[in-house]
Amino acid sequence: MAAETTRFAPSPSGALHLGHAYSALFSAAAAGSDGQFLLRIEDIDQGRCRPEFEDAIAADLAWLGLDWPQPVMRQSERQPAYQAALDRLQEAGLLYPCFCTRKDIQREIAAAASAPHGPEGPLYPGICRGLSPAEQADRKAAGQAFHLRLNVEAALARCGDLTWFEEGAGMQPARPALLGDVVLARKDIGTSYHLAVVVDDADQEISLVTRGEDLKHATHLHRLLQALLDLPVPRWRHHPLVRDEAGERLAKRHAALSLRTLREQGETPESLRRRLAGDGLPLPT
Ligand code: GLU
Repeated sequence: MAAETTRFAPSPSGALHLGHAYSALFSAAAAGSDGQFLLRIEDIDQGRCRPEFEDAIAADLAWLGLDWPQPVMRQSERQPAYQAALDRLQEAGLLYPCFCTRKDIQREIAAAASAPHGPEGPLYPGICRGLSPAEQADRKAAGQAFHLRLNVEAALARCGDLTWFEEGAGMQPARPALLGDVVLARKDIGTSYHLAVVVDDADQEISLVTRGEDLKHATHLHRLLQALLDLPVPRWRHHPLVRDEAGERLAKRHAALSLRTLREQGETPESLRRRLAGDGLPLPT
């Protein structure tokens, strides 16, 4: 297997569960024995993240038998890098301030004859896309908080058709319009998941992005952001999700499947690997 640089990028907002273990083991296996497996702490949302969860993540991953180089990248320390990317998009005229509250958006969607939906819910209906520079300035001067949204149509016009490579499936057409005018800088935290991931994957020189297939839709947008920011383009490998008996993807509410609980019940890293394989969740070889 080729030597890859891969990463596992959890948010320290809860305990790791069996699904995270699979994702981390998958990423480490995909790096290959000569590759590099990195850990990245995705803690931009400081309101939801806790240092004790970060410590528990490191302990759980070490228990699984994984190791990773120090220092660990922590998104909460990287706002200047995200700001530089935002500045560049802004200078290219691809961002606009959005003053809408959730309620404004819901009201507009309810009143519309049709409301296009994407994988993350209804698309932003474009209320603030056409605000004049004077109106933007007035609202900012009045102290109204705003997100920064990507004008996806303008971005696509600039980049033309893009593709991305999914290991095992080949070249895929990128369809970033699926997500509409996404928020790239939230009013409360100044960045977003999508922007931070793309900037960090480039800075960590990730060659193969591995993550759950629930994030596959995000790849369409990430590919566009890489093109807009002139970033190197990795390959991707999305893995199946661990599901509970009812077929639901695991979430924080599945406390019984937290790694800590499983460990206390006598699960070992070896039995956990066997369990995943038995559930039809193989690791890359
Ligand atoms: N932090 C994301 C999560 O916990 C993963 C990000 C990624 O792999 O792109 O779901």
